[in-house]
Amino acid sequence: MENPFLNAQKQIEKTALKLKLDKKTIDFLKKPMRELKFDVSIKMDNGDIKTFPGFRIQYNWARGPTKGGIRFHPKETIDTVRALSAWMTWKCAIADIPFGGAKGGIICNPKEMSQKELENLSREYIKQIAEFIGPNKDIPAPDVYTNSQTMAWMLDEYEKIVKHHAPGVITGKPLELGGSKGRTKATGFGVAINIREATKVMEIELRGAKIAIQGFGNVGVYTAKSLEKMGAKIIALSDSKGGIYNPNGISVEQAIEYKQKNGSLKGLKDTKEISNEELLELECDILVPAALENQITKENANKIKAKIIAEAANGPTTPEADEILHKNNVFVIPDILCNAGGVIVSYFEWVQNITGNYWEEEKIDEKLDEKLTKSFSQMVVTAEKENVDNRTAAYILAIKKVVDAMKLRGWV
Ligand code: NAD
Repeated sequence: MENPFLNAQKQIEKTALKLKLDKKTIDFLKKPMRELKFDVSIKMDNGDIKTFPGFRIQYNWARGPTKGGIRFHPKETIDTVRALSAWMTWKCAIADIPFGGAKGGIICNPKEMSQKELENLSREYIKQIAEFIGPNKDIPAPDVYTNSQTMAWMLDEYEKIVKHHAPGVITGKPLELGGSKGRTKATGFGVAINIREATKVMEIELRGAKIAIQGFGNVGVYTAKSLEKMGAKIIALSDSKGGIYNPNGISVEQAIEYKQKNGSLKGLKDTKEISNEELLELECDILVPAALENQITKENANKIKAKIIAEAANGPTTPEADEILHKNNVFVIPDILCNAGGVIVSYFEWVQNITGNYWEEEKIDEKLDEKLTKSFSQMVVTAEKENVDNRTAAYILAIKKVVDAMKLRGWV
C-alpha cells in the first residue's frame, strides 16, 4: 500500500522546484503544524469499554482557521490523515476561501457499531479536541463514514463544553442546526461543474458522454445525479462490494433506490456485474474515482481509456500513475480542485453561521459554480503558461498563496 503522506510530500517538492522555494520554506510546508493523537474510549452496548485511536491534524493555518473533515474508517492511519490535512490546505487556497487545512479520524469500523456507540464515539472525540477547535481556530466537517448526524452530536458536545451556541465550529450540519442548503450535494455538484468545464477544453460533448463512477457514497451519488441532469450517460457505478455496468446507461434514481433496499448495487436490473478494477479500465469518456486513495497506480494507468479523469476522491492517483496519464494526454482534474465544492459550501455555511444571515439554495449553487469555474480557468491558464500538468498547475497556484501568507506573517 502506498503511503499517501509520502505522495503528498512528493507533490510539495515537485511544486517547490517550480516556485524556486528555499529549503526552510519547503521543510515547513512538508509537515503539519500541529498533530493531536489520543485514545477515544467508549462504553459499548454490551457494557465493555473499548478504545479507538483518534487523530486531529492541523496542517497549516497561515491563511485562516484550519478546516477539514473527520473520517471513521478501519484502515485509517496517521499518515492518511496527514496527507488529507495537507490536501485540505491546498484545496482551500485554490478555491480561494480564507481557511487553512486540517483533517481528523478515528480508526474504527462504523459498519459494526450501533447508533448509540457511534454517538458516544463522536462525543468522546470532541471532548479530546474541544480546546483546539472553534469557529476561528479549526472547523471540522463530515468525511468518509461520517454524516450530518455525526456533526450534530459533535456540535452538541462542543456547545456543552463551551456553554454557548457556536454553530460555526462545525460544517456539514443538519439544516435544523444551522447547516447550509446545498451542502449535501455540494461536493458531487462541484465535481460535475469541473467535468463540464473540462469537456469544453477537451471538446467533448457532455450531453451523451459516457461516465464511469467508482464509489457510490455522498460524493459518487451527487456527482452521478448532477451529471445525469446535465445530459451525460452514467454507464458504470460501484461501491465497496463491487460494480455494475450498462453501456446504454444506468438510471441514477433506480441505483440509489436499489442500493437503499439491498445494501449494494449488485443485481440491479439490466446491469452486468463488474469489479472495481474493471470499472477503472472501462471504455468511457470520463472516469470519476469517488471512493478512496491510491486507485489509479502505475499498474493500471496505461489501461485507462477515459479522456478525462475527475478526481472526486482525495488522492486516488499515485504520482507514478500521474506521469503516465500526462504522457497519455488524459485530462486530469486534480482532487484539490475537483472535490473543492464541499469545502466551498462549508465556507458558505460558516459565513451564514457567523453572520446569522441564511441563503437560498439557488444563490449557493450560483456562487459555487462561479468560484469553481474561476479556479478551473486559472488552473488551465497556469498549466499552459508553465507547460505543466493540471495538478502541478493547481499546486503552483495553491502553494504560492500559502507561502505568500507565511512570508507576510514572517514565518519564513
Ligand atoms: P462515503 O462514505 O459517503 O462513500 C464512500 C463510497 O466509497 C461508498 O459507496 C463505499 O462503498 C465506496 N467504497 C469504499 N471502498 C471502496 C473500494 N475499495 N472500491 C470502491 N468503492 C469503495 O464517502 P464520501 O463522502 O462520498 O467520500 C468519498 C471520497 O471523496 C473520499 O476520498 C473523501 O475524502 C472525498 N471527499 C468527500 C467530500 C465530502 O463532502 N463528502 C469532500 C471532498 C472529498
